[in-house]
Amino acid sequence: MRNVLAALVGLVMVCVCLPAQEAEVAVYLKAGAEQPAAIVELLQRETQALLRPAGVKLVWRELREASRHEDFQAVVVARFEGSCTPAREDVELAWAGRPAALASTPVQDGVILPFTTVNCGAVKRLTAALMRDEPGARRNYLFGRALGRVLAHELYHILGQTRLHADKGIAKPAFHARELLAETFAFHEPAILVLRAGASDSVPAAAETTGR
Ligand SMILES: [Zn+2]
Repeated sequence: MRNVLAALVGLVMVCVCLPAQEAEVAVYLKAGAEQPAAIVELLQRETQALLRPAGVKLVWRELREASRHEDFQAVVVARFEGSCTPAREDVELAWAGRPAALASTPVQDGVILPFTTVNCGAVKRLTAALMRDEPGARRNYLFGRALGRVLAHELYHILGQTRLHADKGIAKPAFHARELLAETFAFHEPAILVLRAGASDSVPAAAETTGR
């Protein structure tokens, strides 16, 4: 499993221009009991850290609690599918599942829609073998950070409105488990420029949901 590649769903304008200020992007999380708060907090921290160099400030909201009207540069809904906890000893570490998409984001008429789904089970299976020797608390940390990296990849597609991938970094088309768990894994400069351009070009969006 160590070298198993899990393909992220490929999605697809690149303009290079620097925004004068940060773009506020709301990410509405559809999280439930299967997404422990501690893991969600870890993934939020990682995703924000990865997007900060592109001038993107993420504002996190829970979809079910959202009710007020707010203005953002862009709005994204992120759903986490499955149990978002790291693999447990003796139960899931022995999985030898086939590589699966870690996340997916729909495309309609050439537009990458702002609705993404992260497959926690696929991330869990990909990282299980390398988690084997990690203590419990460390597993939570690594797993939350890995989920944050997968979400950042999808936000790259959505905010950049690009289906293209990069050769290196978070914008690569597929990840090795060791990359998802590495101390350092980030966007490289070309992807940062795509993100900057996309986020600053986004039409300001009014977020108003009923939590359904
Ligand atoms: Zn991709």
